[in-house]
Amino acid sequence: MSEDRRVAIVTGASRGIGRSIAKQLATDGFLVVAVARNADALNELVSEVQSAGGHAEGRPCDLMDDAAVDGLIEGVVEGHGRLDVLVNNAGVTRDGLVLRMSDDDFDTVIATNLRAVFRLCRAVARPMMRQRWGRIINIGSVVGMMGNPGQANYAAAKAGLIGMTRSIGKELGGKGITANVVAPGWIDTDMTAALPEAMLKEATARLPLRRLGQSQDIADGVSFLASDRASYITGHVLTIDGGMLS
Ligand code: NAP
Repeated sequence: MSEDRRVAIVTGASRGIGRSIAKQLATDGFLVVAVARNADALNELVSEVQSAGGHAEGRPCDLMDDAAVDGLIEGVVEGHGRLDVLVNNAGVTRDGLVLRMSDDDFDTVIATNLRAVFRLCRAVARPMMRQRWGRIINIGSVVGMMGNPGQANYAAAKAGLIGMTRSIGKELGGKGITANVVAPGWIDTDMTAALPEAMLKEATARLPLRRLGQSQDIADGVSFLASDRASYITGHVLTIDGGMLS
């Protein structure tokens, strides 16, 4: 069906950063498979992409459901005969200080932000190896590199993502597959809207670029890493953070 058009899966495409990544990759010419739980939001995204002349389809899926995730990848490979790019963007927070953090809040964040990413990377490895071309792009966070009070679970998952991505890059590099992390700083989405306004104001005032990032800033980095222009970049962590870590 799409045999001459590269296929890109983007998780967490229903809103925020993932939505911008999905739209950018469609603009870049990929057939975008948009994944999230909210089917209505995915339909809306697909209509927008199609009205702009792009190609996209929505595949509602809860990444906590192992069978659904396996079926998702099998369905994409069977339906399109190829799978070129995987962007693991879906993520959740369950913030709380370590002293009060419940097992459930720790486990949910690790399951969504790390375990599901591992399962998706494993599932795409074989079809990408067959093609001898692939791009795995995992959305991390500067929090995984610097830690953040109240986010021990999230920081653990995002730090783990870096080691996992570099390992995958080393395993699959010989097959023409790159694996990289994009690590955003503070980006203006629902995730940051949930934070206290005063805290965000203070955090952005300390940034060299003095503002929150936009989802498009992240989409631009992903667009580059997904392209042929990035064919010699693997195991890299691209921070897009207004200079926070500089
Ligand atoms: P967001 O607005 O909260 O969106 C999160 C996305 O993940 C939604 O599309 C959501 O879709 C999806 N998702 C969550 N749980 C899911 C599940 N179990 N199954 C399928 N989809 C699921 O977040 P965002 O700010 O755009 O963040 C996107 C990524 O960037 C995350 O990995 C986040 O950790 C990272 N990041 C964000 C910031 C920031 O400042 N915003 C900074 C650093 C890193 P549904 O609810 O429809 O399922």
